[in-house]
Amino acid sequence: MKLSRKNLHERTDQVYDAIVVGGGMGGLSAAIYLARYGLKCLVVEKGKGRSLWMQDLRNFVGFDPDTPGRAILNHGTQQVVDWGGDYLRGFVEDVVDEGDQLAVQVKVGKADSYYPVFRTKYLIAASGVIDVLPELDNMQNVYDYAGYTLHVCMICDGFDMWDQKAVLIVGKESQINAAFVLNWFTPYITVLTHGLCTVGDEMKAKLADHGYPLYEAPIARFLGEHHKMGGVELTDGTVIEATTGLINMGSIYHNRYLKGIPSLEWDGENLVTNAMCQTTHDRIFAIGDLKQGVNQVSVAVADGTLAATQIWRTIRRASPPRKWEENLAKALVS
Ligand code: FAD
Ligand code: FAD
Repeated sequence: MKLSRKNLHERTDQVYDAIVVGGGMGGLSAAIYLARYGLKCLVVEKGKGRSLWMQDLRNFVGFDPDTPGRAILNHGTQQVVDWGGDYLRGFVEDVVDEGDQLAVQVKVGKADSYYPVFRTKYLIAASGVIDVLPELDNMQNVYDYAGYTLHVCMICDGFDMWDQKAVLIVGKESQINAAFVLNWFTPYITVLTHGLCTVGDEMKAKLADHGYPLYEAPIARFLGEHHKMGGVELTDGTVIEATTGLINMGSIYHNRYLKGIPSLEWDGENLVTNAMCQTTHDRIFAIGDLKQGVNQVSVAVADGTLAATQIWRTIRRASPPRKWEENLAKALVS
């Protein structure tokens, strides 16, 4: 059921089989499987995640390539609730290891907040990442293009940049290396540092060797209309013609609530997991963009299947078998 301030007290005195942090692509997949295994599960979703921002899912088999993330989220959330899972709009602030269970501290409501604690045998960390965007005085100008013709994921949208004039926007010199991958899709690349880093002579020479111009002045604004880019204007007045772009400025990882668990192994900010998405903590699984691997919807959805199935296996194997009691009773009588 959908939980809210009004009814969540009904769930704070029970122990869930699994709590899923993040109701994005991976988290909803996990919860659908958990609910269909008959396990008690709760999804906690803060809102405004990466998959909500995904304007169209380009490459998922059987889905129209214009399918917006928001439509999948709405449908998937309803599926979870229909199969018997719980769903709460809230922000997971902390997870405390209490030995045979985990305590999950949630903030509900931005104003006049409420802080319930839920207990669970297993936790699935499905909280993903969010892409860093260039900061402009008018951020609406960035949002008008980011996710439409100004992309953040080459695997997702490289095809849609094919042979177009493209800007590559970076915040660090090392991020410029994406140009030498993006050139699979288009060689017409202009690199913009938005004034955030200095570029060494070696990298400058490599860019020059490929014919890719470099501009180090900050971006003033993106040009175009109806989400279709026409170019980029820099603060020094330069105008660069481009119909598409790739922002490669890194990601913010939604993993703070796990930082108090010492036994977790990290690869940078990604969680290390085994083949069933189990972390180095027996009761914690990690799926989708937050774990090591390829950041794609198809991967997050499959990860959700694996994590939920492994949790079910473990709980099932530790549970007494269900017997046909009526037949046993009859056998006793006869
Ligand atoms: P998400 O779907 O991001 O879900 C994580 C959820 O956790 C979010 O909803 C977030 O709000 C929530 N959350 C985070 N922290 C907390 C917290 N502390 N408490 C509660 N909730 C929390 N992939 C493709 O395969 N094909 C594409 O065409 C494609 N296009 C994309 C286009 C854009 C513009 C973007 C931004 C991404 C695109 N992606 C695409 C990537 C895709 O969105 C991700 O790979 C996918 O959503 C990862 O799923 P996930 O479940 O790991 O994370
Ligand atoms: P397939 O989808 O089976 O594709 C393999 C293809 O290879 C077949 O089309 C076959 O004809 C072809 N092929 C085989 N050999 C050759 C050859 N030598 N040359 C050329 N072609 C060849 N999964 C779920 O996730 N949820 C469900 O609810 C679900 N329900 C199911 C219900 C039923 C009745 C069945 C049978 C399966 C169900 N599954 C379900 C399982 C799901 O169908 C499989 O896990 C999934 O299809 C596996 O994908 P695949 O690509 O590995 O194999």
